[in-house]
Amino acid sequence: PRRLTDAEFGALAPRELKARLFANENPFGPSAKAKQAIMDSIASSYQYPFMHLKELEEKISAHEGLGKDMILLGAGSSPLLTAAGVCFGSSGGNVISGDPSYDDMPESAEKVGAQWIKVPLTADYKLDLDAMEAAVNADTKLVYVCNPNNPTATTVDTDRLRAFCERVSQKTTVFVDEAYIDYLPDPLAATMVDGVKKGQNIIVARTFSKLYGFAGLRVGYIIAQPALLEKIGKVTKGPWSISAPALGAAIASYQDTPYLQDALQKTSASKEYLYKVLKEEGYEYIPSAANFVMFPLKMDGARFVEEMMKRGVGVRNWEFNEKEWCRISIGRMDEMEAFATAFKEIS
Ligand code: PLP
Repeated sequence: PRRLTDAEFGALAPRELKARLFANENPFGPSAKAKQAIMDSIASSYQYPFMHLKELEEKISAHEGLGKDMILLGAGSSPLLTAAGVCFGSSGGNVISGDPSYDDMPESAEKVGAQWIKVPLTADYKLDLDAMEAAVNADTKLVYVCNPNNPTATTVDTDRLRAFCERVSQKTTVFVDEAYIDYLPDPLAATMVDGVKKGQNIIVARTFSKLYGFAGLRVGYIIAQPALLEKIGKVTKGPWSISAPALGAAIASYQDTPYLQDALQKTSASKEYLYKVLKEEGYEYIPSAANFVMFPLKMDGARFVEEMMKRGVGVRNWEFNEKEWCRISIGRMDEMEAFATAFKEIS
């Protein structure tokens, strides 16, 4: 049986679950400052958020050391990924991604006429940068690099990725999706934004949906040279789709270090607990650099998901390398305990 799409899965999942571990959300967010900002912004939310957009751009540009014309905001990063897919895919040619990886960008490029070249991961489930580079040809419009990669939660070596970006961006546009970079020990050291600053043909995507806990609030952005952003900006109303309360919340919580550290620490405790449960039950897993973990199943993936759902636990299944896998997001400790109870019943 094929894997359900996000929309199909969303329609199936009940609103109330004991453990909501299927969408890589952060249940420890949004921060107290973000929640207060939403309350404060309600009365003035009849206004279009002109000033908010400017203020958030300024905050991000100051932290990253970038010009404001190098940031394009969106209601989450999805609309920007899709816009890039449409922009780079509509003149034909091909786009390259890892397999499995996050599908939004290459899928939207394929929908408007590009060929999607899927490059299998390495034996240790990382993006195969050498094979992705070798797949680039004269027709390649864009290479999509998801780091950390969803669904495997693996990262590629920063120096290798930097060298990859430097070489490949001379032949085509490189899109680096850093949705989960905030979960790494030193995001500023791992980011490819310095390539953008050097004028390389790179787009970096970020989102508040993950560590900031904004999946339902919807704020994200891409960073690139102004000419690239102008090209993508033609096919999206990106910034103007974000609500004023969401922007207010992003401004209030951007780089809120105590909140971020606390969420990281809780995520890490839940992840260690999950590793322990999997080991006890005799399961392997791919060591995770983000807020989700992939592990091989010993039964049909669709049936596993169904049985877990019956027990109030939402997780996702995948198939690759001729194995059935479960991707479980890291939730609160009570959610991980609910997973453990259900898992022990059916594994
Ligand atoms: N990129 C990756 C790798 C993701 O996993 C996701 C969501 O799960 C997104 C982008 C899109 O997130 P959002 O539109 O909420 O920013």
